[in-house]
Amino acid sequence: MSKKTKEEETQTVQSTSSTQENSLPNNHDEFLKVHRRQIERAFNAFEVLPHVRTILSQPKNEIIVNFPVRMDTGEFRLFKGYRIQHSNIMGPYKGGIRYHHEVTLDEVKALAALMTYKCALLQVPFGGAKGGVRVNVNDVSRNELERITRRFTHDLGNNIGPEYDIPAPDMGTNSQTMVWMMDTYMNSQNMIEKNAQRRIVTGKSLTSGGSAGREKATGQGVIYAILEWAKERGFTLDGCSYIVQGFGNVGSHAAMLMSKLGAVMVGVQDHTGTLYNSEGISPRKLSDHVRSTGGVKGYKGAEVISSDEFWGIQSDICIPAALELQVDVKEAKQIKARAIFEAANGPLTDAGERILLERGVDIIPDIMANAGGVVVSYFEWIQNKRSESWQLHEIDEKLKFMMGRSYNEMRNFARQNKVDNRTAAFAVALKRINDVYAERGVFP
Ligand code: GLU
Repeated sequence: MSKKTKEEETQTVQSTSSTQENSLPNNHDEFLKVHRRQIERAFNAFEVLPHVRTILSQPKNEIIVNFPVRMDTGEFRLFKGYRIQHSNIMGPYKGGIRYHHEVTLDEVKALAALMTYKCALLQVPFGGAKGGVRVNVNDVSRNELERITRRFTHDLGNNIGPEYDIPAPDMGTNSQTMVWMMDTYMNSQNMIEKNAQRRIVTGKSLTSGGSAGREKATGQGVIYAILEWAKERGFTLDGCSYIVQGFGNVGSHAAMLMSKLGAVMVGVQDHTGTLYNSEGISPRKLSDHVRSTGGVKGYKGAEVISSDEFWGIQSDICIPAALELQVDVKEAKQIKARAIFEAANGPLTDAGERILLERGVDIIPDIMANAGGVVVSYFEWIQNKRSESWQLHEIDEKLKFMMGRSYNEMRNFARQNKVDNRTAAFAVALKRINDVYAERGVFP
């Protein structure tokens, strides 16, 4: 990171620096290093053109904006926002916008790169990008959040566009955030072009041009990955147990869909607490509780345990669906599950992953396990472009097909080349990108 950027990073922005009580531990800057080591292993798994390696080592564009917002008290505060565009060789930049009080440039850079490989792996014709705003969504009012979103969108200006860079929800943002972004962007365009701009963002509400199935898409994709794994391993999901870290959009949908398959949630953790019940916790009831209280804390149908005990809970499947770098050496040693599905981006450290692999635990990596979100974002984008509205069953069918196809490509590469699933997933994606560069060359 350049000196200037480092200074920007350490600058404290008023009102956005407070930390949540009991917040899950995180090391945002370390994440980029972990990602670089992961991708390095894939670069070594087959022959990549040297210039492709060079090009992909950094994002194409790094946009940082400091923007003022009028707070409810009347005072103005500065917020810091990022949009990192990693690659558009496979199509328009694509990726979510994260609202988190500790978001950093390096974290967003790693997340943007993950999007490039995720889209390439799934054969979604998009590139990779990610955005972030340093804000604690629990510290601001709804009106403030709207003004933050609209001003950030306005300041991004033509750095985003429906055929250029298409944001989506991520941690801390949702369909409402996307609708504000869309409305702001549409209103900055000329009148006759306005309605062609709807697909500037995906993950919108159904009312404002969103797609059926988008809200549950990431969780649904996790389930399709689990079903593929269970088929391969001859594992029966009905009656099996699982634990989930993070009970936001992704964790809660994955859990609700797991219970439809007869699987039992025995442990759950988020930034407010850790719960255990060997008889099972109802994902539906917990979800209602989280919606009304903001976290799992206070839910009556389970025993409260200490956060250190979470990873050691006896279970068959483990679904990390919170922040990155949650599973290090200590946690990896405790995990009892035979498979981990990375619903979150980058939940394992290198050392944590090594231990799990040595112990024979199956790891289905983020760019595979959580790709359902961007796949259905792609469906939303096509529907907007064609003024169509697809049925949920068509969307689920297509998503299932795409998840299954990529899962099997990943597993075949892993078997044939005797590498782990993460290396294989990155390698399948890299191969596609490499082939395109081989044909197109580099301008001029
Ligand atoms: N934020 C999600 C992800 O990390 C979805 C991105 C999108 O739909 O563009 O994959």
